Amino acid sequence: MANGSVDGDVLEKIINLAKRRGFIFPSAEIYGGFRSTYDYGPLGVQLLRNVKNAWWRSMVQLRDDVVGLDAAILSPPAVWAASGHLETFTDPLVDCKKCHERWREDKIDGVCPKCGSTDFTEARAFNLMFKTQAGPVEGEGATAYLRPETAQGMFTNFNSILATSRKKPPFGIAQVGKSFRNEITPQNFVFRTREFEQMELEFFVPPAEAETWYRYWIETRYQWYLQLGIPADELRLLEHDPKDLSHYSRGTTDVEYRFPWGFDELEGIANRGDYDLTAHSNASGVKLEYFDQAANERYTPYVIEPAAGATRAMMAFLLSAYHEDEVEGEVRSVLRLHWRLAPTQIAVLPLSKKPELEGVSREVLSLLQPHYMCDYDVTQSIGRRYRRQDEVGTPLCVTVDFDSLDDRAVTVRDRDTTEQVRVPIEGLLAEISRRTAHL
Ligand code: ATP
Repeated sequence: MANGSVDGDVLEKIINLAKRRGFIFPSAEIYGGFRSTYDYGPLGVQLLRNVKNAWWRSMVQLRDDVVGLDAAILSPPAVWAASGHLETFTDPLVDCKKCHERWREDKIDGVCPKCGSTDFTEARAFNLMFKTQAGPVEGEGATAYLRPETAQGMFTNFNSILATSRKKPPFGIAQVGKSFRNEITPQNFVFRTREFEQMELEFFVPPAEAETWYRYWIETRYQWYLQLGIPADELRLLEHDPKDLSHYSRGTTDVEYRFPWGFDELEGIANRGDYDLTAHSNASGVKLEYFDQAANERYTPYVIEPAAGATRAMMAFLLSAYHEDEVEGEVRSVLRLHWRLAPTQIAVLPLSKKPELEGVSREVLSLLQPHYMCDYDVTQSIGRRYRRQDEVGTPLCVTVDFDSLDDRAVTVRDRDTTEQVRVPIEGLLAEISRRTAHL
């Protein structure tokens, strides 16, 4: 095994690791599970939150031209009629005539993945939206939908945000949250699930600037994955052929990750033109436009939309971070997660359970906790504890030993190099900041 390579089925390894170490559990498992739904455990919730925070930091915090939104998940049919989802948010559904399994036609190349038959029913359009009832009455008046994307909230709130934020094009609205799609064949762990999280930006621009901003966002989003540690050879950009574009799109490029089954979509960046604002203006009777005072003209901005999946990105980060290498003659599995993504950033490890070490160990923990996500672990040998932290991606371990009582210093161990250095407790925060502030 070459240093850092992975033998065998990496997807299987990640699924096992995720379950065994508390990242992702099959949902409702005590009842036999619920197909393709997952719960995020103690480490998974932290990793997912870190992915979303890293996105928010880059898209909202570090910019002055993007504001945030958290819109409702339940929405009335009018929104989805105007957006075109009621009519066209469908996948082609076929039934295998032999084993009666149902498939999404465009994903199976004409052969039933279950029984190998090539005999299918005619494809019919299957709408992916979850429909439900709001309130105690039944009937059309009470129909509501779980949103299948977060984007529409940004369009329906366009006027309110324009009025309250005092932004003007080019500017964007960002949102992170749950979306729901009744996928015909959810698959590949959390790659495609019926309930998932998205991170979407709708960036409103003067029509003449749309192409420039479209290119800008493709590059910016690609760089985001690189900066968070996915190597360039595991990523690619794929521009859609103009003849394959959705009805609303004037250009779409996907950021793809090299999943174990091949390159597949992480995120789509689309130039949606004025399709959405015009559709909602027409349907609601409320004009969704921008009045440019300097030019004394009113126009409908174009929209550039980078739409990413948070749960899908988390899976890519996990796959990409997973490595197996050799340390002191033993194979170790290590998640080389970026400092900003690691669920635990620092583990404080007293060398022994002896009570003498507890005071100073807890002192070190309290010093670090306000700044970093920490773990505190006293069980088993220090070697075993290092391995456990490596396996869940903890970048730094701080070990407190009996010398610490006299010299007021601790050992800082680096996950990737396994190098250890002695650092005075007084200088610990400065040392960690020196190593990580630029990340
Ligand atoms: P596909 O064609 O694969 O069904 P899509 O192109 O319709 O997906 P978008 O509507 O562009 O997907 O959604 C934007 C992003 O949201 C995707 O790139 C993906 O990261 C995420 N996403 C979409 N559907 C799912 C799902 N069922 N499970 C997990 N993530 C999803």
